[in-house]
Amino acid sequence: MPRDLYEVLGVARNATDDEIKRAYRKLALKHHPDRNPGNKEAEEHFKEANQAYEALSDSKKRQLYDQYGFAGLGAAGGGPGAGAGGVGGFEGFGDFGGVFEDVLEGFFGGGGRRRTRPRKGSDLRYDLAVTLEEAYHGMEAPVKIRKREACGACRGSRVKAGSQPKTCPTCRGAGQVQITQGFFALSQACTRCGGEGKIIDQPCPACHGAGRQEKTVDMRLRIPPGISSGVTLRISEAGDAGERGGPPGDLYVNVTVKDDPRFERDGDDLIHEVRLGYPKMVLGVEIEVPVISGERCRLKVPAGTQQAALLRLREKGMPRFQGRGLGDLFIRIVVDIPKDITSDQKRLLEELERSFAETENEGFFKKVFRRS
Ligand SMILES: [Zn+2]
Ligand SMILES: [Zn+2]
Repeated sequence: MPRDLYEVLGVARNATDDEIKRAYRKLALKHHPDRNPGNKEAEEHFKEANQAYEALSDSKKRQLYDQYGFAGLGAAGGGPGAGAGGVGGFEGFGDFGGVFEDVLEGFFGGGGRRRTRPRKGSDLRYDLAVTLEEAYHGMEAPVKIRKREACGACRGSRVKAGSQPKTCPTCRGAGQVQITQGFFALSQACTRCGGEGKIIDQPCPACHGAGRQEKTVDMRLRIPPGISSGVTLRISEAGDAGERGGPPGDLYVNVTVKDDPRFERDGDDLIHEVRLGYPKMVLGVEIEVPVISGERCRLKVPAGTQQAALLRLREKGMPRFQGRGLGDLFIRIVVDIPKDITSDQKRLLEELERSFAETENEGFFKKVFRRS
Protein backbone atom coordinates (compact mmCIF):
# COMPACT_ATOMS: atom_id res chain seq x y z
CA MET A 1 0.00 0.00 0.00
CA PRO A 2 1.52 3.36 -0.96
CA ARG A 3 2.10 5.88 1.76
CA ASP A 4 -0.29 8.78 2.20
CA LEU A 5 0.81 11.58 -0.11
CA TYR A 6 0.67 14.28 2.56
CA GLU A 7 2.72 12.05 4.81
CA VAL A 8 5.27 11.56 2.04
CA LEU A 9 5.78 15.30 1.72
CA GLY A 10 5.48 15.82 5.48
CA VAL A 11 2.78 18.46 5.24
CA ALA A 12 -0.65 18.90 6.80
CA ARG A 13 -3.74 18.02 4.81
CA ASN A 14 -4.66 21.69 4.64
CA ALA A 15 -1.18 22.76 3.47
CA THR A 16 -1.09 25.63 0.98
CA ASP A 17 0.27 25.13 -2.55
CA ASP A 18 3.36 27.01 -1.49
CA GLU A 19 3.97 24.78 1.49
CA ILE A 20 3.58 21.72 -0.70
CA LYS A 21 6.02 23.10 -3.22
CA ARG A 22 8.57 23.97 -0.58
CA ALA A 23 8.28 20.58 1.09
CA TYR A 24 8.70 18.82 -2.23
CA ARG A 25 11.70 20.90 -3.22
CA LYS A 26 13.42 20.06 0.02
CA LEU A 27 12.83 16.32 -0.40
CA ALA A 28 13.75 16.32 -4.06
CA LEU A 29 17.03 18.04 -3.37
CA LYS A 30 17.82 15.69 -0.55
CA HIS A 31 17.05 12.51 -2.46
CA HIS A 32 18.03 13.58 -5.96
CA PRO A 33 19.93 10.72 -7.69
CA ASP A 34 22.74 13.08 -8.73
CA ARG A 35 23.53 13.65 -5.09
CA ASN A 36 22.98 10.02 -4.03
CA PRO A 37 24.57 7.96 -6.75
CA GLY A 38 23.72 4.27 -6.49
CA ASN A 39 21.53 4.79 -3.43
CA LYS A 40 18.37 2.77 -4.11
CA GLU A 41 16.61 4.00 -1.02
CA ALA A 42 17.15 7.65 -1.97
CA GLU A 43 15.88 6.89 -5.45
CA GLU A 44 12.70 5.40 -4.01
CA HIS A 45 12.18 8.44 -1.79
CA PHE A 46 12.79 10.69 -4.75
CA LYS A 47 10.19 8.90 -6.86
CA GLU A 48 7.72 8.87 -4.03
CA ALA A 49 8.16 12.63 -3.51
CA ASN A 50 7.75 13.23 -7.24
CA GLN A 51 4.53 11.25 -7.35
CA ALA A 52 3.15 12.97 -4.29
CA TYR A 53 3.98 16.39 -5.67
CA GLU A 54 2.63 15.53 -9.07
CA ALA A 55 -0.75 14.74 -7.56
CA LEU A 56 -0.94 17.39 -4.84
CA SER A 57 0.29 20.30 -6.96
CA ASP A 58 -2.64 19.76 -9.33
CA SER A 59 -5.76 21.17 -7.66
CA LYS A 60 -8.06 18.78 -9.49
CA LYS A 61 -6.02 15.70 -8.62
CA ARG A 62 -5.59 16.90 -5.09
CA GLN A 63 -9.36 17.24 -4.67
CA LEU A 64 -9.90 13.72 -6.03
CA TYR A 65 -7.24 12.36 -3.74
CA ASP A 66 -8.78 14.12 -0.73
CA GLN A 67 -12.17 12.66 -1.55
CA TYR A 68 -11.37 9.16 -2.78
CA GLY A 69 -7.75 8.47 -1.90
CA PHE A 70 -5.62 6.62 -4.47
CA ALA A 71 -8.74 5.30 -6.20
CA GLY A 72 -9.59 8.88 -7.13
CA LEU A 73 -6.20 9.37 -8.76
CA GLY A 74 -6.58 6.16 -10.70
CA ALA A 75 -9.88 7.35 -12.12
CA ALA A 76 -8.41 10.72 -12.97
CA GLY A 77 -5.53 9.13 -14.79
CA GLY A 78 -7.85 6.84 -16.69
CA GLY A 79 -4.91 4.83 -17.97
CA PRO A 80 -4.30 1.11 -17.73
CA GLY A 81 -4.29 -0.03 -14.15
CA ALA A 82 -6.82 2.59 -13.15
CA GLY A 83 -8.95 1.00 -10.50
CA ALA A 84 -6.25 -1.47 -9.59
CA GLY A 85 -5.35 0.53 -6.54
CA GLY A 86 -5.20 3.66 -8.65
CA VAL A 87 -1.44 4.06 -8.55
CA GLY A 88 -1.25 3.41 -12.27
CA GLY A 89 -2.95 6.71 -12.89
CA PHE A 90 0.04 8.77 -11.99
CA GLU A 91 3.03 6.77 -12.93
CA GLY A 92 5.42 7.59 -15.71
CA PHE A 93 7.82 9.76 -13.81
CA GLY A 94 10.74 7.71 -15.02
CA ASP A 95 12.90 10.55 -16.22
CA PHE A 96 13.35 13.48 -13.95
CA GLY A 97 11.85 16.02 -16.30
CA GLY A 98 8.61 17.93 -16.09
CA VAL A 99 7.68 19.03 -12.61
CA PHE A 100 11.15 18.52 -11.27
CA GLU A 101 12.78 20.79 -13.84
CA ASP A 102 10.14 23.47 -13.24
CA VAL A 103 10.68 23.57 -9.53
CA LEU A 104 14.43 23.12 -9.45
CA GLU A 105 15.49 25.05 -12.52
CA GLY A 106 16.93 27.90 -10.50
CA PHE A 107 18.61 25.63 -7.98
CA PHE A 108 20.68 23.60 -10.37
CA GLY A 109 21.05 26.31 -12.96
CA GLY A 110 19.73 23.74 -15.39
CA GLY A 111 19.37 26.16 -18.28
CA GLY A 112 22.94 27.35 -18.07
CA ARG A 113 24.29 23.87 -17.92
CA ARG A 114 22.35 22.76 -20.96
CA ARG A 115 23.63 25.61 -23.09
CA THR A 116 27.24 24.70 -22.65
CA ARG A 117 26.99 21.03 -23.55
CA PRO A 118 28.41 20.00 -26.94
CA ARG A 119 25.53 20.10 -29.36
CA LYS A 120 24.84 18.00 -32.40
CA GLY A 121 24.55 20.03 -35.59
CA SER A 122 21.18 20.39 -37.27
CA ASP A 123 19.91 17.82 -39.72
CA LEU A 124 19.48 19.15 -43.23
CA ARG A 125 17.09 18.29 -46.03
CA TYR A 126 17.80 18.27 -49.72
CA ASP A 127 15.35 17.59 -52.55
CA LEU A 128 16.85 15.78 -55.50
CA ALA A 129 15.09 14.94 -58.77
CA VAL A 130 16.59 12.24 -61.01
CA THR A 131 15.56 10.85 -64.37
CA LEU A 132 14.26 7.32 -64.70
CA GLU A 133 17.50 6.38 -66.47
CA GLU A 134 19.56 7.75 -63.60
CA ALA A 135 17.36 5.79 -61.21
CA TYR A 136 18.00 2.67 -63.31
CA HIS A 137 21.79 2.95 -63.38
CA GLY A 138 22.28 4.63 -60.01
CA MET A 139 24.47 7.71 -59.96
CA GLU A 140 26.58 10.17 -58.09
CA ALA A 141 24.78 13.47 -58.19
CA PRO A 142 26.97 16.56 -57.81
CA VAL A 143 25.11 19.02 -55.59
CA LYS A 144 25.76 22.28 -53.81
CA ILE A 145 24.53 22.34 -50.24
CA ARG A 146 24.30 25.37 -48.01
CA LYS A 147 25.31 24.36 -44.52
CA ARG A 148 27.16 25.34 -41.40
CA GLU A 149 30.72 24.12 -41.38
CA ALA A 150 33.44 24.50 -38.76
CA CYS A 151 34.97 27.95 -39.28
CA GLY A 152 38.05 27.67 -41.48
CA ALA A 153 39.86 30.53 -39.76
CA CYS A 154 39.69 29.22 -36.18
CA ARG A 155 38.91 25.56 -36.99
CA GLY A 156 35.88 25.74 -34.72
CA SER A 157 37.83 26.97 -31.67
CA ARG A 158 36.03 30.37 -31.80
CA VAL A 159 39.23 32.15 -30.77
CA LYS A 160 41.11 34.72 -32.83
CA ALA A 161 44.33 33.32 -34.28
CA GLY A 162 47.27 33.90 -31.92
CA SER A 163 45.12 34.48 -28.84
CA GLN A 164 44.05 32.04 -26.14
CA PRO A 165 40.85 31.71 -24.15
CA LYS A 166 41.25 32.97 -20.60
CA THR A 167 40.40 30.95 -17.53
CA CYS A 168 37.14 32.28 -16.07
CA PRO A 169 38.01 34.28 -12.94
CA THR A 170 34.61 33.69 -11.34
CA CYS A 171 34.67 29.89 -11.30
CA ARG A 172 38.45 29.54 -11.80
CA GLY A 173 37.85 27.31 -14.77
CA ALA A 174 35.49 24.87 -13.03
CA GLY A 175 32.41 26.04 -14.92
CA GLN A 176 30.41 25.60 -11.71
CA VAL A 177 30.01 27.76 -8.65
CA GLN A 178 28.88 26.67 -5.17
CA ILE A 179 25.84 28.38 -3.79
CA THR A 180 24.30 27.87 -0.39
CA GLN A 181 20.57 27.54 -0.16
CA GLY A 182 19.40 26.93 3.37
CA PHE A 183 21.08 23.73 4.53
CA PHE A 184 22.18 22.72 1.06
CA ALA A 185 25.29 23.63 -0.79
CA LEU A 186 24.63 23.29 -4.48
CA SER A 187 26.70 23.76 -7.53
CA GLN A 188 25.34 25.93 -10.27
CA ALA A 189 26.62 26.65 -13.76
CA CYS A 190 28.82 29.72 -13.73
CA THR A 191 26.91 32.57 -15.34
CA ARG A 192 30.01 34.54 -16.31
CA CYS A 193 31.44 31.87 -18.63
CA GLY A 194 28.19 29.98 -19.28
CA GLY A 195 29.63 26.90 -17.59
CA GLU A 196 32.59 26.55 -19.91
CA GLY A 197 35.26 27.62 -17.47
CA LYS A 198 36.83 29.76 -20.17
CA ILE A 199 36.24 33.24 -21.49
CA ILE A 200 37.02 34.22 -25.06
CA ASP A 201 37.89 37.93 -25.05
CA GLN A 202 39.27 37.90 -28.59
CA PRO A 203 36.74 36.00 -30.68
CA CYS A 204 37.58 34.82 -34.18
CA PRO A 205 36.68 37.70 -36.51
CA ALA A 206 35.67 35.36 -39.35
CA CYS A 207 32.85 33.64 -37.45
CA HIS A 208 32.38 36.26 -34.69
CA GLY A 209 33.16 33.59 -32.13
CA ALA A 210 30.48 31.17 -33.30
CA GLY A 211 32.99 28.54 -34.43
CA ARG A 212 30.86 27.80 -37.46
CA GLN A 213 30.22 29.52 -40.73
CA GLU A 214 27.58 29.08 -43.36
CA LYS A 215 29.10 27.84 -46.58
CA THR A 216 28.09 26.36 -49.88
CA VAL A 217 29.65 22.94 -50.07
CA ASP A 218 30.10 20.75 -53.14
CA MET A 219 29.00 17.22 -52.48
CA ARG A 220 28.40 14.08 -54.45
CA LEU A 221 25.26 12.23 -53.43
CA ARG A 222 25.36 8.53 -54.19
CA ILE A 223 22.00 7.41 -55.53
CA PRO A 224 21.64 3.62 -55.50
CA PRO A 225 20.09 1.87 -58.53
CA GLY A 226 16.37 1.18 -58.42
CA ILE A 227 15.43 4.20 -56.33
CA SER A 228 11.88 5.48 -56.60
CA SER A 229 10.05 8.67 -55.72
CA GLY A 230 9.40 9.22 -52.04
CA VAL A 231 12.54 7.45 -50.82
CA THR A 232 14.57 9.45 -48.33
CA LEU A 233 18.28 8.70 -48.10
CA ARG A 234 20.07 9.51 -44.87
CA ILE A 235 23.69 10.56 -45.21
CA SER A 236 25.04 10.53 -41.72
CA GLU A 237 27.15 13.43 -40.51
CA ALA A 238 26.64 15.42 -43.71
CA GLY A 239 24.45 18.03 -41.99
CA ASP A 240 25.48 21.12 -40.05
CA ALA A 241 28.69 20.95 -38.04
CA GLY A 242 28.14 20.46 -34.30
CA GLU A 243 28.67 23.10 -31.66
CA ARG A 244 31.40 22.96 -29.01
CA GLY A 245 32.77 19.69 -30.27
CA GLY A 246 29.39 18.05 -30.84
CA PRO A 247 28.90 15.71 -33.80
CA PRO A 248 27.55 16.98 -37.12
CA GLY A 249 23.90 16.50 -38.03
CA ASP A 250 22.70 14.26 -40.83
CA LEU A 251 21.62 15.06 -44.35
CA TYR A 252 18.28 13.72 -45.55
CA VAL A 253 17.90 13.52 -49.31
CA ASN A 254 14.33 13.31 -50.57
CA VAL A 255 14.38 11.72 -53.98
CA THR A 256 11.90 12.28 -56.77
CA VAL A 257 12.12 10.26 -59.98
CA LYS A 258 10.93 12.32 -62.94
CA ASP A 259 8.31 10.90 -65.29
CA ASP A 260 9.63 9.32 -68.46
CA PRO A 261 7.38 9.70 -71.51
CA ARG A 262 8.26 6.18 -72.68
CA PHE A 263 7.57 4.23 -69.51
CA GLU A 264 5.01 3.92 -66.78
CA ARG A 265 6.46 2.53 -63.58
CA ASP A 266 4.81 -0.04 -61.38
CA GLY A 267 7.23 -0.87 -58.58
CA ASP A 268 10.17 -2.53 -60.29
CA ASP A 269 8.21 -3.21 -63.47
CA LEU A 270 7.94 -0.84 -66.40
CA ILE A 271 5.19 -0.58 -68.98
CA HIS A 272 5.69 0.71 -72.48
CA GLU A 273 2.71 1.22 -74.75
CA VAL A 274 2.77 0.39 -78.46
CA ARG A 275 -0.06 1.33 -80.82
CA LEU A 276 -0.57 -1.09 -83.69
CA GLY A 277 -2.99 -1.12 -86.58
CA TYR A 278 -5.70 -3.73 -86.47
CA PRO A 279 -4.22 -5.81 -89.34
CA LYS A 280 -0.89 -6.14 -87.50
CA MET A 281 -2.61 -7.33 -84.36
CA VAL A 282 -4.52 -9.90 -86.37
CA LEU A 283 -1.59 -11.09 -88.46
CA GLY A 284 1.24 -10.69 -85.96
CA VAL A 285 4.35 -8.56 -86.41
CA GLU A 286 7.86 -8.08 -85.11
CA ILE A 287 8.48 -4.70 -83.52
CA GLU A 288 11.35 -2.87 -81.85
CA VAL A 289 10.79 -1.56 -78.32
CA PRO A 290 12.84 0.76 -76.13
CA VAL A 291 14.45 -0.62 -72.97
CA ILE A 292 15.44 1.55 -70.00
CA SER A 293 18.99 0.19 -70.06
CA GLY A 294 19.47 1.93 -73.40
CA GLU A 295 19.50 -1.19 -75.56
CA ARG A 296 16.80 -1.76 -78.16
CA CYS A 297 14.95 -4.99 -78.13
CA ARG A 298 12.98 -6.83 -80.80
CA LEU A 299 9.70 -8.37 -79.83
CA LYS A 300 7.33 -10.71 -81.67
CA VAL A 301 3.71 -9.67 -81.38
CA PRO A 302 1.89 -12.94 -82.05
CA ALA A 303 -1.00 -13.28 -84.52
CA GLY A 304 -4.36 -12.65 -82.90
CA THR A 305 -3.09 -10.31 -80.18
CA GLN A 306 -5.99 -8.78 -78.28
CA GLN A 307 -6.53 -5.14 -77.41
CA ALA A 308 -4.48 -4.02 -74.35
CA ALA A 309 -2.59 -7.32 -74.25
CA LEU A 310 0.56 -7.21 -72.10
CA LEU A 311 3.65 -8.91 -73.49
CA ARG A 312 6.38 -9.52 -70.96
CA LEU A 313 10.11 -9.00 -71.43
CA ARG A 314 11.67 -10.60 -68.39
CA GLU A 315 14.24 -8.61 -66.40
CA LYS A 316 14.13 -5.56 -68.62
CA GLY A 317 12.59 -3.43 -65.88
CA MET A 318 14.12 -1.53 -62.96
CA PRO A 319 16.72 -2.99 -60.60
CA ARG A 320 15.22 -3.99 -57.29
CA PHE A 321 16.11 -1.25 -54.80
CA GLN A 322 18.59 -2.61 -52.26
CA GLY A 323 17.90 -6.08 -53.58
CA ARG A 324 18.90 -8.42 -56.36
CA GLY A 325 17.61 -8.83 -59.89
CA LEU A 326 15.41 -6.70 -62.05
CA GLY A 327 11.72 -6.17 -62.63
CA ASP A 328 10.10 -6.87 -65.99
CA LEU A 329 9.19 -4.72 -68.94
CA PHE A 330 5.63 -5.08 -70.16
CA ILE A 331 4.65 -4.02 -73.65
CA ARG A 332 1.02 -3.03 -73.77
CA ILE A 333 -0.42 -3.46 -77.27
CA VAL A 334 -3.15 -0.98 -78.05
CA VAL A 335 -5.13 -0.95 -81.28
CA ASP A 336 -4.69 2.15 -83.38
CA ILE A 337 -7.94 3.09 -85.11
CA PRO A 338 -7.37 5.52 -87.99
CA LYS A 339 -9.85 8.38 -88.31
CA ASP A 340 -9.18 9.21 -91.95
CA ILE A 341 -8.95 6.47 -94.50
CA THR A 342 -8.83 6.52 -98.30
CA SER A 343 -11.73 5.27 -100.43
CA ASP A 344 -9.59 2.27 -101.38
CA GLN A 345 -9.04 1.38 -97.76
CA LYS A 346 -12.73 1.86 -97.10
CA ARG A 347 -13.62 -0.53 -99.96
CA LEU A 348 -11.16 -3.13 -98.61
CA LEU A 349 -12.53 -2.84 -95.08
CA GLU A 350 -16.10 -3.25 -96.35
CA GLU A 351 -15.00 -6.31 -98.26
CA LEU A 352 -13.30 -7.63 -95.15
CA GLU A 353 -16.42 -6.96 -93.12
CA ARG A 354 -18.57 -8.90 -95.62
CA SER A 355 -16.10 -11.76 -95.50
CA PHE A 356 -16.25 -11.85 -91.69
CA ALA A 357 -20.05 -11.77 -91.82
CA GLU A 358 -19.99 -14.83 -94.09
CA THR A 359 -17.69 -16.82 -91.84
CA GLU A 360 -19.86 -15.83 -88.89
CA ASN A 361 -22.97 -17.06 -90.72
CA GLU A 362 -21.23 -20.26 -91.70
CA GLY A 363 -20.36 -20.76 -88.06
CA PHE A 364 -23.98 -20.09 -87.12
CA PHE A 365 -25.33 -22.59 -89.67
CA LYS A 366 -22.77 -25.19 -88.62
CA LYS A 367 -24.03 -24.89 -85.08
CA VAL A 368 -27.65 -25.15 -86.21
CA PHE A 369 -26.95 -28.26 -88.30
CA ARG A 370 -25.02 -29.91 -85.50
CA ARG A 371 -27.93 -29.32 -83.19
CA SER A 372 -30.57 -30.80 -85.50
ZN1 LIG B 1 36.16 31.29 -36.56
ZN1 LIG C 1 33.07 30.71 -15.07
